Amino acid sequence: MSRIVVLGGAESGVGAAVLAKVKGFEVFLSDKGNIDPKYVEELRKWDIPFEQGGHSEDLILNADEVVKSPGIPSTVPMIRKIEDKGIHIISEIEFASRYDSARKICITGSNGKTTTTSLIYYLLQQAGLNVGLGGNIGKSYAYQVATEHFDYYVLEISSFQLDNCYDFRPDIAIITNITPDHLDRYDHNMENYVRAKFRITRNLRPEDCFIFDSDDEITINHLDKIVTRAKKLPFTQKGEVEQGAFLSGDKIKVRYEKDECDIYLEELALGGKHNIYNSMAAALAAKATGIDNAVIRESLRSFKTIEHRLEPVMSVGGVLYINDSKATNVDAAWYALECQKKPVVWIVGGTDKGNDYSVLDSLVKEKVKGIVCLGVDNAKIHAAFGKMGKPLVDTLSADEAVKAASKMAADGDVVLLSPCCASFDLFKCYEDRGEKFKEAVRNL
Ligand code: ADP
Repeated sequence: MSRIVVLGGAESGVGAAVLAKVKGFEVFLSDKGNIDPKYVEELRKWDIPFEQGGHSEDLILNADEVVKSPGIPSTVPMIRKIEDKGIHIISEIEFASRYDSARKICITGSNGKTTTTSLIYYLLQQAGLNVGLGGNIGKSYAYQVATEHFDYYVLEISSFQLDNCYDFRPDIAIITNITPDHLDRYDHNMENYVRAKFRITRNLRPEDCFIFDSDDEITINHLDKIVTRAKKLPFTQKGEVEQGAFLSGDKIKVRYEKDECDIYLEELALGGKHNIYNSMAAALAAKATGIDNAVIRESLRSFKTIEHRLEPVMSVGGVLYINDSKATNVDAAWYALECQKKPVVWIVGGTDKGNDYSVLDSLVKEKVKGIVCLGVDNAKIHAAFGKMGKPLVDTLSADEAVKAASKMAADGDVVLLSPCCASFDLFKCYEDRGEKFKEAVRNL
């Protein structure tokens, strides 16, 4: 019996361990830190041996194969030792896909992954297909392969999850867009990050589809460097394409093979230029899956907003509060500001990931009437926008930020939390930041 060692005891690691157990491997899971009690319970339930608070080399280096959780960088000493011993390291996605014959629609990119993934999942559900949702969302893919049966999967896949994929092959691969993010994990080399994203295309066959944003320069520049035999389906808001999706007057036009589907922009459930892109990608994936035009149109109309992504919270005193806590980079905040039609009081800040704020200059000048910094170190935000002469204050909690913003805002304005930054300086995660923001708004 061969031995699978799983490194990392959170959602994907525990899912991989459960799948390995179900498939009859000898399994061991090791986590350098503490394992969340809910996962400890799961491991016990499946009778999977594990350790936490450190790695025992003798129990790891005797593996036939190692499944590494995406959160563990490939530079940590334990990974180096495993590699030195010549043990193959794979990701949970690679492992699970060996045991799954469902058709897979897989989404990666810098921004819009969760939105596009959720849209596609909803579209397939509305079409009555037996479909699972996984990857970075909800239950891990491996856990579902171990415990459920689906004909289709819609999987959100981060570049970290793609790093250790080799034979994994989607039927439809989507790259939403590529902008600088997480460069700390790629030796601060943009090319490495781009290549990691493009791994999603490496095993595509001629009958598979590759859906991508042809307005995205980085994607387009890289396209020539890759060999994919798949059907290429671009989506664009500039010009027309023969196969793919584009704007035609007040409609999105989706062309796939000999068929066309028109979707009225004003009927889209999700507002903003960025969501036109996401809706185009989703509609293309749905067309390539053979879903009826009427179902595509109706689903893009009836879809409900996702939490923490341009989520309207409530109006207080004529001011609409919007929670876009998931905007953890400059590009996401750009789209959030771009689609605002009313004067904005902008709540911004947190853990900076090497942001270049200059791309926001003209939007901030035009749309923002006041800035509330919500972060421990706001120096870069002051340096970027301080000269514009707009009110600018520093705050250290969601409560303080919302109160400060409410003082700056007048009837008819919008208060937008779209922070451009990670949340870890003041919050557990972006969800925690969004929850605290909403709570503070409700308490106004
Ligand atoms: P991801 O899963 O890739 O982080 P989300 O769908 O969760 O993406 O959206 C993250 C943030 O990016 C949100 O603030 C959202 O408003 C913004 N966003 C969504 N789609 C796009 C897009 N296509 N381009 C740029 N920003 C986007």
